Amino acid sequence: MIPFPPSAPTPTPFDPASLGVGHDQPRLLLVDDEPRLLLSLYELLQGRGYQLITATNGAEALAHLSKLRFDLVLLDLGLPDIGGHEVMDFINQKGIDADVIVVSGEVGIDAAIGALKRGAYDYLRKPYSREELLKTVGNALKARRLEQANERIAAQLENSEKMYRYLVDSSPDIIYTLNHEGRFTFINERAHQLLGYKRDELIGQHYSILVHEEDLERARYVFNERRVDERASRNVELRLKCHAGNAHDRTFNTTLMTISLNAIGMHVPDQEVRKLEFFGTYGVARDITDRKRAEEVISYQAYHDILTDLPNRILFKDRLGLAVIQAKRKQTELAVMFIDLDRFKLVNDTLGHVKGDELLQQVAGRLKECLRKGDTLARQGGDEFTIVLPELRERDDARAIADNFLESLHRPFDLDGHEVHISASIGIAIYPGHGESIDELLRHADIAMYQVKGQGKNGHAFYDPSMQEVSHQKIALGQALRRALENDELEMYYQPQVDAASGKIVGAEALMRWNHPARGVVSPGEFLPFAEENGLMLPISDWMIGALCRDMLQWKGLCGSQVRLSLNLSPQYLDRGDFFEKMRGALLRYGIAPGQIEVEITENICIRNPQYAIEQLNKLGQLGVSVAIDDFGTGYSSLAYLHRFPVHTIKIDQSFVKEIHDEHDHYPVVLAIISIARGLGLNLIAEGVETEIQARYLRANGCLTMQGYLYYRPMPLPRFMDVLQEHGVQSGDHNVIAFQA
Ligand code: C2E
Ligand code: CA
Ligand code: CA
Repeated sequence: MIPFPPSAPTPTPFDPASLGVGHDQPRLLLVDDEPRLLLSLYELLQGRGYQLITATNGAEALAHLSKLRFDLVLLDLGLPDIGGHEVMDFINQKGIDADVIVVSGEVGIDAAIGALKRGAYDYLRKPYSREELLKTVGNALKARRLEQANERIAAQLENSEKMYRYLVDSSPDIIYTLNHEGRFTFINERAHQLLGYKRDELIGQHYSILVHEEDLERARYVFNERRVDERASRNVELRLKCHAGNAHDRTFNTTLMTISLNAIGMHVPDQEVRKLEFFGTYGVARDITDRKRAEEVISYQAYHDILTDLPNRILFKDRLGLAVIQAKRKQTELAVMFIDLDRFKLVNDTLGHVKGDELLQQVAGRLKECLRKGDTLARQGGDEFTIVLPELRERDDARAIADNFLESLHRPFDLDGHEVHISASIGIAIYPGHGESIDELLRHADIAMYQVKGQGKNGHAFYDPSMQEVSHQKIALGQALRRALENDELEMYYQPQVDAASGKIVGAEALMRWNHPARGVVSPGEFLPFAEENGLMLPISDWMIGALCRDMLQWKGLCGSQVRLSLNLSPQYLDRGDFFEKMRGALLRYGIAPGQIEVEITENICIRNPQYAIEQLNKLGQLGVSVAIDDFGTGYSSLAYLHRFPVHTIKIDQSFVKEIHDEHDHYPVVLAIISIARGLGLNLIAEGVETEIQARYLRANGCLTMQGYLYYRPMPLPRFMDVLQEHGVQSGDHNVIAFQA
């Protein structure tokens, strides 16, 4: 659409919004107050690919300039209202990006100078030649196009520079360049985030200020090697130091590219590249700290015990192996120790696994304190620890360290308010005297440790070949005990419990004996702990239930159900799911009244699953079987258990009874136990009563049922039946002796 039709000499005001402006068509504003001249200008330029807009006075021109963008203004200076110079001032003031060609009839030089001063592209004097005008317009537009293209390219360059910088700075990796001296010439923003150094703190600095001291040598090696081509890139792991105040060092996998560039080649593309000159280093460093840490954690866990943080058995063997090699080379001795805690199982069973674990941690801590530099302490598992003392000067050193260990364990441990005492048995084997291989040394230290256990624990012993025999004896004992079950070598003995007032028998405790073919009668203290450790407790207990029921059938005829039988229940047996069922089945099968049976449990029976134990004991109680707490007062939390288990009877431990020497003295523990029983309405039995004084004291203070050598020793069934017959039993309900509250 043409805003100024050639037929209409006076251009109509035009509405720019009605124009579909083609952007690639230059837009020209033609300003002249002479309609004829304006028209001829219009006609001259028309049809040449320009978009033409006209104005016949200054105000009109300003209006157009304010609304539209023009590439070129052909401006007459002598306008009636606002002069051409003022129009140019307007253009300049408003920062309008249009070139101006002045087409003027003014002859004075001032007009031309004023126009050029105001930035006119050219000045044409009227009358102008058509060619000249067309050429000037063409040139102006061409120059303008070039300038615009330049600006566009400059802007594009600036943008792409921005983009590259953005990409480089937001790269997860550190990107850097070093000059030939190894000084930073560029480093991206990432370095700041990862290492805490600002860019300008690093530029110009040597890379070595960043590299961890221990890695400097390696860094120097890789940075100095100036390879080219495809061999130029390689991966090196370096630890970089963080800015002071910034956490820990981080590990980087830095991909280095030593670039060798030809300076001439860079600047003069058509010359042949000949001489390769070292220019600098370009590198990308990737932060692999997290991966390194994960790797470290994984390998740490493979070689360490999680609970105590000590080396585990794998790492221990490794260290021991190294120590043996070194000892062999230097012809020195070394010691291997095997430490096993005494009574640990008791703590675990009594206070539970959590406390047991805590104790192990505390023990590990104390043992660690006794070590010298270079010694290795490891946890083998359970409550077993091993130690290697390399480069032993003399055996006394090992002895002294073992003594230190024992002493450090001597102080009581505090497990959340529970004071726990523990000791250890330590076996020591010396290289090369006691063995030359890792396994031999460990095995012999283990044997020596068992020797200590067998001799009352809490001590240390050096290995001696004669100990092999003892350990063989242990194996033999296991085999013999299994045979004992098959050959029926076990037997139940019975120890009567007596009512002190009447002297009559009210009950009996069943105690196990082993009639060893060679050693004679063996007491349970010798073989039951062994059975517990070696998985024989369950078959032995099974056997016991059957034997007791068979025996009871025999003496029932003599005393009816007047005499109650106490049997000792192993914690392991209670732990087993079918104890209750077994017991009930046997009682049914033999027709024995459950009310005639009492099971004795020790306070230490708070086994792995106390809730389950309580359930079992409750079911027994519902059946009519009663429960006694054995060795009362020696365990950890006597009172707590009284409330947790359905208890009917407590037995005063013989160690307290043994204390009683003087009838008129005061024995607070005994009195306390008696008053607890009275307070809770429980039956009470004193164990291990050996003297009249003890019996009188107990009786005077309210304990009426006694068990001990003063009355009877444990005896085989036939003898027990004789005793029942001779001495008679308490009749009526008196066999249940209780302090009713
Ligand atoms: P316990 O349950 O405390 O049994 C009492 C121990 O004291 C018995 O030792 C008994 O012979 C002994 N004794 C009784 N009166 C006196 C006395 O006046 N003076 C002295 N010094 N000792 C006396 P025994 O028979 O050697 O049994 C030892 C432990 O073995 C028992 O201690 C019990 O914990 C366990 N035990 C015995 N028989 C069995 C059994 O059939 N099953 C289970 N699980 N454990 C048993
Ligand atoms: Ca007992
Ligand atoms: Ca006892």
